[in-house]
Amino acid sequence: MTTSELERKVLDSVPTGLLIGGEWRPARSGATTTVEDPATGEILAEVADAGPEDGMAALTAAHEAQAGFAAMAPRERGEILRRAYEAMIADLDDLALLMTLEMGKPLAESKGEVAYAAEFFRWFSEEAVRIDGGYATAPNGQSRFLVMKQPVGPCVFITPWNFPLAMGTRKIGPAIAAGCTVVIKPALQTPLSMLALGQILLDAGLPAGVLNVINATDAGGVMEPIIRDGRARKLSFTGSTGVGKKLLEQAAEKVLRTSMELGGNASFIVFDDADVDKAVAGAMVAKMRNMGEACTAANRLYVHRSIADTFADKLAEKMGALVVGRGTDDGVQVGPLIDAKGRDKVVDLVGDALAHGATVKVGGSPADGPGYFYPPTVLTDVPVESRLNHEEIFGPVAPISVFDTEEEALAAANATEFGLVNYLFTENLDRALRVSEKLESGMIGLNTGLVSNPAAPFGGTKQSGLGREGGTVGIEEFLETKYIAIGIQI
Ligand code: ADP
Repeated sequence: MTTSELERKVLDSVPTGLLIGGEWRPARSGATTTVEDPATGEILAEVADAGPEDGMAALTAAHEAQAGFAAMAPRERGEILRRAYEAMIADLDDLALLMTLEMGKPLAESKGEVAYAAEFFRWFSEEAVRIDGGYATAPNGQSRFLVMKQPVGPCVFITPWNFPLAMGTRKIGPAIAAGCTVVIKPALQTPLSMLALGQILLDAGLPAGVLNVINATDAGGVMEPIIRDGRARKLSFTGSTGVGKKLLEQAAEKVLRTSMELGGNASFIVFDDADVDKAVAGAMVAKMRNMGEACTAANRLYVHRSIADTFADKLAEKMGALVVGRGTDDGVQVGPLIDAKGRDKVVDLVGDALAHGATVKVGGSPADGPGYFYPPTVLTDVPVESRLNHEEIFGPVAPISVFDTEEEALAAANATEFGLVNYLFTENLDRALRVSEKLESGMIGLNTGLVSNPAAPFGGTKQSGLGREGGTVGIEEFLETKYIAIGIQI
């Protein structure tokens, strides 16, 4: 089979409808929307485009399935997740190709994401059977407390395009483990991975109505009535802080539980006592994973003056050597950005930094031709007032600024309304812990450029979000605590 035949076969295997009540259906209006290859601008597929009435039908299906699903044995829920995990691993190559086609990242990274996404199902298949409660004696000895955990109820999920599978499984895994039903809306740019996942979960034995997948170009028009309806009891969102704030307002009407994974503005601090090669390797991961299109991406690099030139030279050499191209092609390490808007933002941010006096070490100007490519770029002498220091870049641009003291680096790192993750590189244990305690973020990468792990609590502070995903706390977001006060005479 030629590459394009294989691509067509994989694309043709994906359901293109809305998954509502266990069935794939067209939109009631008959509307469809197209999915584009960001490397070429070509249309890959046409999928159903939900309207508000489809959204309501999905919510009704989730609501009707809730009581039955909550009553399913935890082991059975866990086994559905386990089977889905195994199916994802068995289909890893096809799922990765599909993801690369619609999202653009190189195949090796897509394979990494499929494995990472599947791992949430394995992790939460193991958590499904560990939901516990408690029994306690009141302090005065007069009564007893019985504490139980119950599923929070139907959930609404809205996910972004940058990790088309993992941002879904990170929410769907714990919801299923806890006994919650779901309406999920994947991102407009990348619905195919989620549609493929819907079929995998059906094949794994997930009952009808437990997972409903609606793709919608009118995201606000379709999701707002669902959120305001009140039958869903939980909203979990991954995306931009601006949209997250709007959704929080909507969720307030019926006081939904909320989890928010919002924007980031990670600093990457390299102290003078760091191992420079380790720091450069860490920066390559923290910056270039997903072409920089990650909320955890290193957004601002602060390097001690004594090693700044060495660090910048080594980083520029590695960045400049990366192979840019369509993610399906052999040897490609950097794919296109997601769309014209994404690339234009990177162009604007770099232009602004240069206007403020930054210097280009490597890259710096977008390629011509089809696709939304932007070359790996290193900038030095980036002034603090540059927009690059304050806004999420979401592209392969590493802006380097120098610092002289630990206090200065800490103050710069914390001078943002975001608080998702910060990275620091130092070989000094006291400094590592001292700085980690003072950095204002939900996560720290200490001598590593990668923090994401299904077994660890992922999440942010400040305007980066609410709640945690993954780890042993991940399932708690989908459980309500109920306490029974027991009058007792002994
Ligand atoms: P990005 O800029 O990275 O695309 P967004 O926050 O705009 O981030 O998108 C994340 C998800 O939120 C996507 O699924 C998108 O369709 C959805 N979304 C965007 N605007 C709204 C809205 N007003 N209401 C509900 N969902 C929305």
